[in-house]
Amino acid sequence: MVEKTLVILKPSCVMRSLVGEVTRRFEQKGLRLAGMKMIQLTDAQLNEHYAHLAEKPFFQRIKDSMQASPVIVCCYCGVDAVEVVRALTGATNGRKALPGTIRGDFSMSFQENIIHTSDSPENAVVELNRFFKPEEIFDYKMPTHDALYANDEYC
Ligand code: ADP
Repeated sequence: MVEKTLVILKPSCVMRSLVGEVTRRFEQKGLRLAGMKMIQLTDAQLNEHYAHLAEKPFFQRIKDSMQASPVIVCCYCGVDAVEVVRALTGATNGRKALPGTIRGDFSMSFQENIIHTSDSPENAVVELNRFFKPEEIFDYKMPTHDALYANDEYC
């Protein structure tokens, strides 16, 4: 199914000047960039976004890390985009993430792991609504579309 998913280029990506390198991988794969902007994350946004970690002892540390610089929020679109982007991302702990994945190639850390990516289609919808207004998500056809997918595959 054609899906949209959220990617956040974290401060560990922005501050290490890896934005081009990381976004290149999504482009190279064939994902369509549907939205992108630089923002400074607020406390309220992070409390919502990382609510599932609120009880963890490292919660405040994660929030501080996510506010260490602006981040870049991106919306990528494609068939099974959530699963595809998650696979490109790699395991949460950068030291354990497989070589070839973004975290596996660029991170030595559990916390400073370069990007956030939505972990399910349901969460992707919620997370995209959290960070984008509807008019900030763009639908357009890539000229490469017919070389990326078979006729009956894009649905
Ligand atoms: P993911 O980002 O892979 O979906 P989680 O949602 O579990 O993983 O965690 C959100 C973020 O919190 C991680 O990307 C990482 O930056 C940080 N984090 C999670 N667990 C730990 C941990 N044990 N130690 C340090 N940071 C952590």
